[in-house]
Amino acid sequence: MKIKELIKLTLRGFRILYFCAAMNKLDTYKHVGMRRKLVNELKELGVTHSEVLMAIDKVPRHLFLDKAFEKQAYENIAFQIGAGQTISQPYTVATQSALLEIKKGDKILEIGTGSGYQTAVLLELGAKVYSIERQKELFDKTKVLLPSLGYKAQLYYGDGYKGKSAFAPFDKVIITCGAPFVPPALVEQLKIGGIMVIPVGEGRVQSMKRITKKAKDGLIEEEFGNFSFVPMLEERQ
Ligand code: SAH
Repeated sequence: MKIKELIKLTLRGFRILYFCAAMNKLDTYKHVGMRRKLVNELKELGVTHSEVLMAIDKVPRHLFLDKAFEKQAYENIAFQIGAGQTISQPYTVATQSALLEIKKGDKILEIGTGSGYQTAVLLELGAKVYSIERQKELFDKTKVLLPSLGYKAQLYYGDGYKGKSAFAPFDKVIITCGAPFVPPALVEQLKIGGIMVIPVGEGRVQSMKRITKKAKDGLIEEEFGNFSFVPMLEERQ
């Protein structure tokens, strides 16, 4: 290797290290304290899954939001993240994550990367995540943000209705936008024995469904109350 290339590589390494250190600094004790409070609030709301609570305790949600929202980042509310989309409420993220019954090493397909916050929670739970986002603006932003915070996921710009057949079957599938119906391709790409968590319904309110694939054509469906998501955008022709 030429000396010039070596210097270039070393400088790039230093730049990455500096960037990581700078990002770390942005997660202060104050934020850690705010996260603890959020976790307690989620417990009061009935979230009991300890690994999920631990994951929420770790992910710096304020870094997934616009700086203007920093003070409220650990309140149990949804926020605008651009392109008319929202980061889900922490209670919703906790509920969906718990319903997935994640085991370390699970291969998860996520539809609706958005800010990447839910993706980060799944990664903290030890999953390998493949995530699809339909809005280019959000995809571009999150593709830079997640690795800068040390989160490694496979991110794709595309249509969630189609899933990602090249990497199927998945142990779990999570949809983080309101789906008008259960997309057949996503059921197809779910492993036998796998679980899909999907808010289904048109309009402002959807019913949270957990679908367990017992056999190729044997689906068990359970319902877990009403939630409000931004709509899953129509299929592209
Ligand atoms: N999990 C996200 C929530 C984002 S809101 C977070 O933690 O921030 C839902 C996201 O689904 C939006 O970013 C929206 O652009 C995306 N979306 C909507 N329809 C989609 C589709 N057909 N395919 C992939 N993503 C879609």
